[in-house]
Amino acid sequence: LERIEAVDGPDGVHAFLHVDAEGALAAAEAVDRAVAEGGPVSPLAGVPVAVKDNMTTTDMPTTCASAILDGWRPPYDATVVARLRAAGLIPLGKTNLDEFAMGSSTENSAFGTTRNPWDLSRIPGGSGGGSSAAVAAGEAPLALGSDTGGSIRQPGAVTGTVGVKPTYGTVSRYGLVAFSSSLDQIGPCARSVLDAALLHEVIGGHDPRDQTSVDGPLPPVVEAALAGARGDLAGVRVGIVSEFSGEGYQPGVLAAFTDAVRVLGELGADVVEVSCPSFSYALPAYYLIAPSEASSNLARFDAMRYGLRVGDDGSQSTDEVMSQTREKGFGAEVKRRIMIGTHALSAGSYDALYGKALKARTLIVRDFTAAFETCDVLVSPTTPTTAFPIGERTDDPLAMYLADLCTIPSNLAGNAALSVPCGLAADDQLPVGMQIMAPALADDRAYRVAAAYE
Ligand code: GLN
Repeated sequence: LERIEAVDGPDGVHAFLHVDAEGALAAAEAVDRAVAEGGPVSPLAGVPVAVKDNMTTTDMPTTCASAILDGWRPPYDATVVARLRAAGLIPLGKTNLDEFAMGSSTENSAFGTTRNPWDLSRIPGGSGGGSSAAVAAGEAPLALGSDTGGSIRQPGAVTGTVGVKPTYGTVSRYGLVAFSSSLDQIGPCARSVLDAALLHEVIGGHDPRDQTSVDGPLPPVVEAALAGARGDLAGVRVGIVSEFSGEGYQPGVLAAFTDAVRVLGELGADVVEVSCPSFSYALPAYYLIAPSEASSNLARFDAMRYGLRVGDDGSQSTDEVMSQTREKGFGAEVKRRIMIGTHALSAGSYDALYGKALKARTLIVRDFTAAFETCDVLVSPTTPTTAFPIGERTDDPLAMYLADLCTIPSNLAGNAALSVPCGLAADDQLPVGMQIMAPALADDRAYRVAAAYE
């Protein structure tokens, strides 16, 4: 709490939207009592954790960094939050994000941007910039993020921390405010691979309240992190995705990534190049599918059920109140997505836009399937560049979208992927991340390789 006080002010990192000091201290005392009474405690009992502010919490506000949810208090805990509490972790507060998790820099927050602890003039990535920055700045040893197109891995990469997107369906989405339901996945942010695995094990596993929850055992991620830490990758087949390099990639990022791959080879891995030609469709397909689902999901913010209500003086119709509330409550990027998605789903455009994006999604799944026939894991830089300056891409949505070039395919296919720090870029001395992708339900492979490298 003192660390947060020292670095998180409005001119500082600004990772948190809400800090619950009293609640955290009370939870810590409860853990102390349980320990004193000799009760069963989990391995992470007493460890503080920050929670991205798009997961519901009964004792703290949930805003999704949007004015439209200002003042809303959810009546229930997200499953992941309930599992944190049950395992004795201490929720510290709620972290900043791009509004409704739409963005790559945390600049789309209605409550001010988060800054990168490595250089306060730069973005911490997004949408989960608050969670990764809190971990990087030593404000929280662990945090939860959500990853729809890269929002755990890309902030992890640019803040020099570990970020994991588990296999779709293996961590409950119950209580995660929906952005794009077929892509959204909650996962851990941490300072080390083993820390991430320990948190992953607390939050993961089947949940009957999430209809897309996988009913089966969670991949053995902690075991894999411990095994990997012995540093032996003999016989592991690592494929470098050849499409993720070249033009648009910062030389310092490519150099750090190439060096990391050399280390994997030294640890015994068999490194080959693989081609995934359909990955070039991932970005355009994502920016039709995600907004389409978002336009539907965000229809629930109708001025009647949650938070903000504008113009309700008794003289206006429901439609007027709804449209004024949405006009005032949603930011520019959220409105852009609602418009794109509504257009892509409309009768005249569905086949040419949304339908075509779904076909591209199938081709991407096939590329992964083919690549995983010859490789155990695939690797790439997590992001094409290091953290860019705040403000640099705010007027250029397409440049902003490019930050997710390498992370999006794994969301579209639903497989596991993580980002592990791989040193600093020689050209700007900022952190670089290596992405490790594994087949669905083989998250343990990515953990093993990441822990060996780390
Ligand atoms: N940056 C991507 C987007 O803007 C991904 C966001 C996310 O993963 N939540 O949609």
